[in-house]
Amino acid sequence: MPLDRTILFNLVTSKPLERAVRALPQGEALAWQQASRYVAGRSADDALRVVERLHRQGVAASVDQFGEMVTDRGVSERAARDYLGLAGRLAELPPRTWLGVDLTHLGLHIDPAACAGHLAAIAEALPEGRRVQVGAEDHASTDAVLSCVLDVAARGLAGRLGATVQANLHRTPRDLDRLIEAGVHVRLVKGAYVEPADHALPYGEPTNLAFLRLALTVAASGAPFALATHDGVLREAVLAAHGPVEVEHLFGVCPEVVDELAGRDVPVRVYVPYGHNWFRYWLRRLAESRGA
Ligand SMILES: Cc1cc2nc3c(=O)[nH]c(=O)nc-3n(C[C@H](O)[C@H](O)[C@H](O)COP(=O)(O)OP(=O)(O)OC[C@H]3O[C@@H](n4cnc5c(N)ncnc54)[C@H](O)[C@@H]3O)c2cc1C
Repeated sequence: MPLDRTILFNLVTSKPLERAVRALPQGEALAWQQASRYVAGRSADDALRVVERLHRQGVAASVDQFGEMVTDRGVSERAARDYLGLAGRLAELPPRTWLGVDLTHLGLHIDPAACAGHLAAIAEALPEGRRVQVGAEDHASTDAVLSCVLDVAARGLAGRLGATVQANLHRTPRDLDRLIEAGVHVRLVKGAYVEPADHALPYGEPTNLAFLRLALTVAASGAPFALATHDGVLREAVLAAHGPVEVEHLFGVCPEVVDELAGRDVPVRVYVPYGHNWFRYWLRRLAESRGA
């Protein structure tokens, strides 16, 4: 029986565990060996090589530099400069290449107005037809993330933005309506965070049913969206109901399914993360691979 999801997630997202593993002789190198299945590399160039490889397989990519919950303004400003550099490089990359970002990496909790300025500048720097997809963080950040996305969308940039909505959160049907109305691309996920019961449905069937209902709602609206799940039953149910909807996977998760989908002309996009802060991302994916 899998370890209780809350215990496992608290364990894998703990800083002390990361410090302990990194401090072991060879600890970091051994962890990296395992993590590199899910991580494109430490540099932007590593990530862009993966993007080109996926493109040759008929698969699109969204490139994301690891980073979240930044509390130092210098770090968030450096991240914003890195993203502007990446946005500038997209013109040389396959046309379906997008960016991905967590707004707390751009300083959402330090200075929301500056964060919105960074997001708008990145969106403006994108070549025509590209988007920057904003990640969904824990429920305590959802209001701030949504406000920032809607603020930037209202600056005439909705067509260059994507937002992520978590099926497990009780609030998501309302948030989804607002994003659809604003014309922002929606990426639907189950939700990676362990959340309190007054904010979220439990993992498992209640979240899966919510995912299905939300997917059918957004599909019926005609808004641009993607199903970001490795759950084959949910994916096939929506594809059967609505035809070729874009499906998103995380890099390294069920790559054989990515190939199979591309082979039957289902549009597929892979989230390609890179950078130095890979440790806890890797452990989350490891926990999910064990069914947590
Ligand atoms: C492109 C993308 C972007 C995402 N962005 C966000 C976000 O911004 N915010 C957020 O909260 N969550 C995000 N998620 C994560 C999501 O919320 C889930 O935590 C994660 O996708 C696992 O749920 P699942 O839908 O794949 O279903 P699950 O029920 O967890 O898994 C379905 C099947 O896939 C297999 N599987 C799942 N994960 C793995 C793995 N790591 N290795 C091997 N097999 C695996 C399972 O074993 C199971 O058979 C994102 C997911 C994707 C695909």
